[in-house]
Amino acid sequence: MSQFREIDKDHCPYCKASLIGDPIPQEYIDKGYYGEGVTHYRREIGIEDRDLDRCVEYQCPDCGGRWPVEIVRSE
Ligand SMILES: [Zn+2]
Repeated sequence: MSQFREIDKDHCPYCKASLIGDPIPQEYIDKGYYGEGVTHYRREIGIEDRDLDRCVEYQCPDCGGRWPVEIVRSE
C-alpha cells in the first residue's frame, strides 16, 4: 500500500494525466451542489462495490489504471 502514499490526487498515479475536469458553473456552486472549495469536475471514474454499496476504487479515464479510494483519502 505504501506505493500510493505519495499520491497526488489531482493526477493519475500511473500515467500522470490530470484528473481535474471542466470548471463547475458558478450557479451550481452557488446552489451548494458541490462541497466547499470544489470548483472543477473530477475526471476519475468511481468504481462501486455492490456489496459495500460505496465507491472503493477510482479508475483513470485515460489509461484505465485503478487505485483504491481509501489510500487517496488517508493523507
Ligand atoms: Zn492514467
